Amino acid sequence: MAKEEMVLDIEGLTVSFDGFKAIDSLNLYVDKGELRVIIGPNGAGKTTLLDLICGKTRASSGRIRFMGKEVTRMPEHEIVREGIGRKFQTPSIYENLSVWQNLEVSFPRGRSVFGALAFKCDDEVSERVRSVAQEINLGDQLDTEAGLLSHGQKQWLEIGMLLMQNPDLLMLDEPIAGMSVREREQTAELLKRICVNRSMIVIEHDMDFVKKIADKVTVMHQGKILAEGPMDRVQADPKVIDVYLGH
Ligand code: ADP
Ligand code: MG
Repeated sequence: MAKEEMVLDIEGLTVSFDGFKAIDSLNLYVDKGELRVIIGPNGAGKTTLLDLICGKTRASSGRIRFMGKEVTRMPEHEIVREGIGRKFQTPSIYENLSVWQNLEVSFPRGRSVFGALAFKCDDEVSERVRSVAQEINLGDQLDTEAGLLSHGQKQWLEIGMLLMQNPDLLMLDEPIAGMSVREREQTAELLKRICVNRSMIVIEHDMDFVKKIADKVTVMHQGKILAEGPMDRVQADPKVIDVYLGH
């Protein structure tokens, strides 16, 4: 894999919390257009790894390159501008605004939420809102108040808010937690659809879901990578069965 083909190129990444290495000399390479799933037991360091990539947590050592550019010490808002979008476990939508308004305020134009709301909706924004709403299965819900959506639809809306910024790398932490079976299936389709022209990192525990979406799976354990490869190979790995899948 040539370096210029990579969206993410992480080497020697380490972070210590009071001497405890939550991420320990980790190397990770993600290709352009790839959908990578990260699995592993609780406390393995999965969320911490996303925190480091998006600049929420500072690395103790090592480096993170995004599209060939070093972002290790960049502030969080600059990393967003470089093209990394990150969804946290709890959705942060505006419950009292409509689906349309939630998407509209997420359109990047360097102004505050309230400034964007006061701004007259131009064609470019409307077009983008409509196409993103289609992508996240909410094309028919544009006028619905976000607070009235189902749990799963709220998760999709938040993904849509990230898509408004057209990120090259989208990172999702346990996106299907609390979803119905039907919503899980729809989310698998949704993620495969939005992965076209961008890369994704998804942390997830549901193995049926992982199997449906993953190009490649990375198994983390104690801040390190335990195994990596196609799902069937990783699932058959005795080390992985021992620390994770066997339980
Ligand atoms: P995962 O997402 O794989 O379940 P986390 O990344 O949340 O794991 O946590 C990895 C380890 O790092 C855990 O032992 C957790 O307690 C610890 N940890 C995470 N963030 C902090 C922090 N800000 N301060 C101290 N310890 C932390
Ligand atoms: Mg976590």
